[in-house]
Amino acid sequence: MELLHPWRLDLPPQVRDKPVLSLVLPCYNEQDVLPETTRRLVALLAALDAAGSIGPGSAIYYVDDGSLDATWRLIGEYAAVSPAVCGIKLSRNRGHQNALLCGLMTVPGDVVISLDADLQDDLDAIPRMLAEYRAGCEIVYGVRRRRDSDRFLKRVTAEAYYRLLAGMRVQVQFNHADFRLMSRRALEALRGYDETHLFLRGLVPQLGYRTAVVEFERAARFAGTSKYPLSKMLALAWQGVTSFTAYPLRLITGVGALVSLGSLLLATWALGIRLLTGQAVPGWASSVIPMYLLGGVQLLSLGVIGEYLAKVYESTKRRPRYHVESVCGSRFEREAP
Ligand code: UDP
Ligand code: MG
Repeated sequence: MELLHPWRLDLPPQVRDKPVLSLVLPCYNEQDVLPETTRRLVALLAALDAAGSIGPGSAIYYVDDGSLDATWRLIGEYAAVSPAVCGIKLSRNRGHQNALLCGLMTVPGDVVISLDADLQDDLDAIPRMLAEYRAGCEIVYGVRRRRDSDRFLKRVTAEAYYRLLAGMRVQVQFNHADFRLMSRRALEALRGYDETHLFLRGLVPQLGYRTAVVEFERAARFAGTSKYPLSKMLALAWQGVTSFTAYPLRLITGVGALVSLGSLLLATWALGIRLLTGQAVPGWASSVIPMYLLGGVQLLSLGVIGEYLAKVYESTKRRPRYHVESVCGSRFEREAP
């Protein structure tokens, strides 16, 4: 009888010493920051290489998320002069989460670190993340120490949102966005989560494995403007809720039960008065206000149920999340047409 080698059940052992590091950066109209980002990242890779922390073949992978400015041209120029820079171009803008996933699923390497292109994520945290990986962690979360660089409204809403998720028992790392290290094993595990609606922050904690947290100060955006307007942020926030919990649906059931019970009591009371005193219950407000209130609650509830239904509908279509239009850089065998 052939015995299964334990590693056949999962993946080969991880390379802990001098792992090949891939940095993944989704970019959408980032022409203003790319020169500086590239300069700093190339220097960082050289320093890590000199220190013997990473293996040969470590590289930067920009995922151009259908930019409309000179982003892709710049990436091509950097890739032409530096073997450490590579690029993947998506056929159109698919959103940050999809672009990030494309990078994570495509790039080689023993360990992948994802970060934003605008230098808000502190590069000094990267050597500390690698140290945690060497110590045996599969996932390392970059966590902001303070949010001073954010506007007041963003700070307050972000805080409230993390609390809301925690209250609904959705497991997320507090104050962590998408600045994280993942080992090859964690990435392969992530491949198994074939979801249409992506909320990587919620998905990654589901993987388990040994994890660690590295704190960093989040700087202000180096140049350019945020590509996450309020509408996109709200959409992502809602994604986070509906992808990981049916709590809102349960809440609706709870509210429905409570309101039904209340109206039953009210009816009993009205009937009691009618029988005991023979009078009709006066009061227009007490009958009209609950009507509007209930109408509102019902519409809202239908909306929430509809949202979940729409999710099921979209998931059944199993549409691809992105298409790669072209690639550049030394790590790809040839240019795509
Ligand atoms: N991004 C992207 N596609 C989009 C929007 C944003 O790839 O549709 C990238 C963007 O280029 C940046 C990262 O996602 O590298 C985070 O975006 P941004 O810094 O604008 O968000 P913020 O930090 O303001 O929340
Ligand atoms: Mg940013």
